[in-house]
Amino acid sequence: MTSKDRFTYYIEKFGDTKILRYKLENFDQLSLKQKEYIYYLSEASLCGRDILWDQNGSENLTLRKTMEEIYSQGKHKDISSELWEQFTTFLKRIWFANGIHHHYSMDKFKVPFKEEDWDQLCQLYSIKLEETVAKELHKLLFDSEYKNKRVSLDSTQDLLTYSANNYYQGVTQAEAEAFYEQKAKEEKTNQPSRGLNTQLVKNSKGIVEERTWHLNGMYHEAIKNIIHWLEKAKAVCENPKQEECIALLISYYQTGDLHTFDQFNIEWVKELSGEIDFINGFIEVYGDALGMKASWESVVQYTDHEATKRTQIISENAQWFEDNSPTEAKHKKAEVKGVSAKVINVAMLGGDCYPATPIGINLPNAEWIREAYGSKSVTIENITAAYDKASKGSGFLAEFAYDEQEEARAELYGYLGSNLHTDLHECLGHGSGKMLEGVPVDALKNYHSTLEEARADLFALYYIMDPKLVDLGLIPSLEVGKTEYDGYIRNGLLTQLVRIELGKDLEESHMRNRQLIAKWVFEKGTSENIIEKVVKNDKTYFTINDYTKLRDLFGELLKEVQRIKSEGDYNAGKELVETYAVKIDLNLHQEVLERYKKLEIPPYAGFLNPKLTPELEGTEIKEIKVTYDEDFASQMMRYSNDYSFL
Ligand code: ZN
Repeated sequence: MTSKDRFTYYIEKFGDTKILRYKLENFDQLSLKQKEYIYYLSEASLCGRDILWDQNGSENLTLRKTMEEIYSQGKHKDISSELWEQFTTFLKRIWFANGIHHHYSMDKFKVPFKEEDWDQLCQLYSIKLEETVAKELHKLLFDSEYKNKRVSLDSTQDLLTYSANNYYQGVTQAEAEAFYEQKAKEEKTNQPSRGLNTQLVKNSKGIVEERTWHLNGMYHEAIKNIIHWLEKAKAVCENPKQEECIALLISYYQTGDLHTFDQFNIEWVKELSGEIDFINGFIEVYGDALGMKASWESVVQYTDHEATKRTQIISENAQWFEDNSPTEAKHKKAEVKGVSAKVINVAMLGGDCYPATPIGINLPNAEWIREAYGSKSVTIENITAAYDKASKGSGFLAEFAYDEQEEARAELYGYLGSNLHTDLHECLGHGSGKMLEGVPVDALKNYHSTLEEARADLFALYYIMDPKLVDLGLIPSLEVGKTEYDGYIRNGLLTQLVRIELGKDLEESHMRNRQLIAKWVFEKGTSENIIEKVVKNDKTYFTINDYTKLRDLFGELLKEVQRIKSEGDYNAGKELVETYAVKIDLNLHQEVLERYKKLEIPPYAGFLNPKLTPELEGTEIKEIKVTYDEDFASQMMRYSNDYSFL
């Protein structure tokens, strides 16, 4: 009882980031075999860490290892405490971002100390690097123009040349597009997801070719270890379907064959009876400007039974939601298949899900599998609960909410509203709608991610104010929907700007999506004063005057965004994103940053994992012990020590 009360969610802050901790709720109610299954999957999810670091930039691993070498020796007597402090904060920021580019803005970090300080550190700590490597690191650290953006979405320039990630080497955007267009012609189908698990390079003869990520290929050593733990997990899984899934995943890692990955996904979507589930592989494409190459990530999870009742109701009614959505009939799914939704607790996060963590996930991403077999979606309860508990009393809401009524309503219904939004976004939004025949899945190119997120958000927003949700017993009243609308508009037009440096554009897909929606409905509703911009005491607020009409506007935009996706209307998608989602009002931005600064809250957060330790009797596992005693640096150093394979 007391240990429960004493659980600390907030750990520390540095730079623009705070570190929280999530808790494995009800873990002790799982059987020993289930815990063992979780343990093996968790080991597999930590083994891919280095893959992501390398994907994010070709020098990231060298940089990390060099800095960790310095860090592990402790503060040297000949350097100032100030420099040591700057150095360790910088290292923490790099750890957090899995590389030298900010995890969200994708901008390269500015080194907080001077070139000569770096040279001094390298000398005092006897850092030995080959000369070319040392030069390259130096350039990366101190030439601010060099590799300054992990993913460039500036469509006026060559997207690949200006992206510093390691998905393409020496290949221009035109060459990459030509390479995959040729492949598309040969394969005449949208399956499998072309280029998902490869690096595209120009070889010494000037020929463009793929290097595949698989056993005996690129990232061999990390993948070998992932397979090792998956094999162990396979022996203790909960049911034969899970066993089949893991066998397919292992086979995919062995061969790199994307058809096998599709097979895995198809079987994985069908596996619903187990309490434990996982993600492990090359999954999301946000890190690639062309939206093809997937970053490595992993999640290990178990069901939260009580909260899952909520998503079960939603998925049981999936067809009703699809039929009644404001989209055109020809863009709807005639038969919604297998949208399953669970509320889960995570037990381990790895790769691109760590330390910055999603709060909901819907997979698989392959459009044809979603249409034919459905998808699985989760809302992560122990992450959202940790956010909620850590944010209480920060003063953030009071600063940006229009009045006390809005604030009080958010205190009452905000948590339910945003969790329900995530449920609807993941389990219905992404899974809704269909593509018209012959429309290529990559038709929207660099606008794809933003528009896809907008589609899912709009679906959630449209339905969160629907009386049907009250009928279904999901919300006590439409007040929940109202508070979600308040929060969405407030975030899309004001508060999310705290994450952006003054003078910069919005780049990240989810942020672009939120501003796109909020700005579009604000402008469309101007003549009827649906959303009002109010300035009181020199502070800007947005307040909603008509929730019903706002809902209609969300519906109207949903219809258009679905049409753009279904028809692959690149130009209309581009117009929408460039008009509403990219530029920020400079004066408003400055005001928001000043108001936010006074609150002293870091705008980003991420999570520490628990430590899982098997307790042995002889060679037999008797218990899986869960401990939470690490701080950020010690967890990072342990991972670098135990899971460095590349
Ligand atoms: Zn989404």
